[in-house]
Amino acid sequence: MDIDGKTAIVTGAGSGIGRGLAISLAKSGMNVVLVGHHQPPLDDTAAAILAMGGKSVTVTADVSKLDDVQRVANEAIRAFGAVHLLCNNAGIGPFASTAETTIAEWEWVLSVNLWGVIHGIHVFLPIFEAQGEGHINATASESGLYGTPYLAAYNTSKFAVIGLMQSLARDLRATQSDVTASVLCPGAVKTHILDSARERPDTAQRPVEVSAETHAFRDLVNDAVANGMPPEDVAACVVDGIRKGQFWIFSHDHVPETAFKQS
Ligand code: NAD
Repeated sequence: MDIDGKTAIVTGAGSGIGRGLAISLAKSGMNVVLVGHHQPPLDDTAAAILAMGGKSVTVTADVSKLDDVQRVANEAIRAFGAVHLLCNNAGIGPFASTAETTIAEWEWVLSVNLWGVIHGIHVFLPIFEAQGEGHINATASESGLYGTPYLAAYNTSKFAVIGLMQSLARDLRATQSDVTASVLCPGAVKTHILDSARERPDTAQRPVEVSAETHAFRDLVNDAVANGMPPEDVAACVVDGIRKGQFWIFSHDHVPETAFKQS
């Protein structure tokens, strides 16, 4: 896909991979619509883009709400006239084993990590199809390729996102349109994703205290994330992958050889 001079939406653009993506896309000549549920981090990303001569607008929105995502589309088109690339990147990653995960927590994780992507596709696919061009990317995870302990809801959401994006890509291939899709599966990336658990909806209602095993696993993952890949390097892989028309985008080379690599 030729991206120069076109417009991208990036959700979760106030931090981590989304911030890296927004800055990389702006460097590649795209106008960027920065989306997130807190305004100050979006302003910070917008300032970084402005400082390098790029163009962006910010839209505060919760991707788990369809009306918010619809408003993102309206504001993007009002600002830049058209939209060509959607990066469904916003996500949360709390720790808990399957038994420890409460219903409120299942709903919270799936509403952001899965329904956020569904809302993006629902709103932007018709726009891209009408203009005959567009690309939809979603940030899944290596945790969508194989189950890990103590990440029940997160694993579930990321497996679902991969299935959804694969299905979308195959639907689009069947129509031979210039609308395409890709999925990003990063390994550990140095971001503040693990802090998102602080926003979990039901701390007071958890039926059991999170287990010692969950705490131990959390420490391992904390370590992996603290020593993870820089978000900018992941972003560079995404921009390259979209330009080359890849479906699977892996930012790490230690991904196990699996059938999932087939496109
Ligand atoms: P991050 O916490 O820095 O970024 C997530 C962003 O999403 C934040 O800016 C947050 O404000 C935003 N967000 C959360 N809920 C939202 C909502 N309801 N509506 C709108 N925005 C919302 O973490 P990150 O690591 O950059 O995460 C980005 C994506 O990468 C996530 O989908 C995550 O699952 C995925 N991922 C991260 C890693 C990693 O190791 N960091 C690995 C694989 C996949």
